[in-house]
Amino acid sequence: MKIKGIIFDFGFTLFYFKDVSLEKYLDCYTRGLQKSLQHLQSMGTSFNNEFAQKFARHFNERRNFFFKESLKTKNEYSTIYIFKHVFDLIVEQDVINAINGDEEIFLRKLADIYHSCEEEEWIPFEHTRHTLEQLNKKNIKMVVLSNHPHHSTIKNLLKKFELDYYFDDVITSAKFGKRKPNPDIFRHALEKIDLGDKANECIICGDEYADIKGGYQVGMQLFLCKREYKFPFEREIDIENYITIRKISELLDYV
Ligand SMILES: [Mg+2]
Repeated sequence: MKIKGIIFDFGFTLFYFKDVSLEKYLDCYTRGLQKSLQHLQSMGTSFNNEFAQKFARHFNERRNFFFKESLKTKNEYSTIYIFKHVFDLIVEQDVINAINGDEEIFLRKLADIYHSCEEEEWIPFEHTRHTLEQLNKKNIKMVVLSNHPHHSTIKNLLKKFELDYYFDDVITSAKFGKRKPNPDIFRHALEKIDLGDKANECIICGDEYADIKGGYQVGMQLFLCKREYKFPFEREIDIENYITIRKISELLDYV
């Protein structure tokens, strides 16, 4: 059967994280938060050291809370949402006024800075561009579907490496509000490429349970792109009919 569309996961499918480890991930977030706080402090005297520490404490506490919630509910709580939550919780109105009224832009900027350290670490696999080029020549529609709490991070990275051109759409849990494997986000991705009723003629290609399980629930063809690094607490895939590949270039043998 001719393949009409492919949904690609982002992390460890199209891109990899340099020298990946859980510690390195966490360190990126710690440094990112410090940079966001510096930005806050640059806004004026109300944002003193004491305020920054209080902000960091609340942010980390809320982030952990919402992370656990997202595992339970499969809802995404974006970084912008968490910043807003902390703002509403601890920031006085006169301070908010100092932002000049445009809270949304301000919160987005904080989230951009928060993810900036992480953003420096993601790079495409060497075979990614060539594979996308070949698939594009076959007129296969392609979408990126990522569980990520900040939409701009994924958009920026695709643009930075000039890969955005190959994709009909970029969908993130941050923007959609639900995380893979929730089938709604997969249906949404298929509808975006007008293949909502042709899931069985489309491939999901990703490196983990959430990708395979979600694709399975909507009736897609399943490709697990096997990752070398194993994260702690990873969920085993409880579905049988998927194909395992080592890199996305192997998809070219199937389409
Ligand atoms: Mg992934």
